[in-house]
Amino acid sequence: MKNEKLISNLKKVQKNIKAAAAKANRDYKEIKLLAVSKKHSIDEIKTLKQAGLNFFGENRVQELEEKNEKLLSEGIELDWHFIGHLQRNKVKYLMRMENCRMIQSLDSLRLAKEVNKRAKKNDRKIPVLVEINISGDENKFGITPAKAEEFLKKITNLEFLQIEGLMTILPYLDDSEKLRSYFKDMKNLFDKLSANVIPLDELSMGMTNDYQIAIEEGATIVRVGTAIFGEREY
Ligand SMILES: *Cc1c(COP(=O)(O)O)cnc(C)c1O
Repeated sequence: MKNEKLISNLKKVQKNIKAAAAKANRDYKEIKLLAVSKKHSIDEIKTLKQAGLNFFGENRVQELEEKNEKLLSEGIELDWHFIGHLQRNKVKYLMRMENCRMIQSLDSLRLAKEVNKRAKKNDRKIPVLVEINISGDENKFGITPAKAEEFLKKITNLEFLQIEGLMTILPYLDDSEKLRSYFKDMKNLFDKLSANVIPLDELSMGMTNDYQIAIEEGATIVRVGTAIFGEREY
């Protein structure tokens, strides 16, 4: 995509974030925009970096590693969040990437234990979010809301994980009130777990289709791809 178009898309998203925050009487500075660059080029990422964005997300380990190595070789160190379903045999690659700052998609105890083990080996503590399958969609990964408290309690024992909050991916729906009700369920769960188990800071929810609603309902991180980069080609 052309540089000017990328920058104007970015500005539009930033403006929408401010408007959604204002509508909900929130300070827009509480909301972090994660640019989801999967399937998009290094050049596009660099354009956004020049425009002041440093915060990017990818959902595949190999693609993330390749982009990161290329960018680092040019002296560009971004803050990456991993947002995709993570296979245990790939965890070691993520954990040796110092500027992979968070795993947002912790979705099983076996994965949590592997991340803990590899973080320890790399002498670091890794910030994580627990992925919640709030809609109960069979095709989605994530811990069910009913099991979330038990899961969180179990992983608090893993000392190389720094538990920061929750993440969810909603199904693609046109019905904004249905989306809103899922976001409200997430916020309620977030507040309940914060009170009962461990204080949480980050609530990662909202994508191109629904980030404004997510912000109105309490998101602290929105993960936006298409609205910035345009459609992905597969
Ligand atoms: C691709 C992806 C996004 C961004 O989706 P868009 O609809 O393009 O904004 C957000 N979160 C996750 C986990 C993704 O895989």
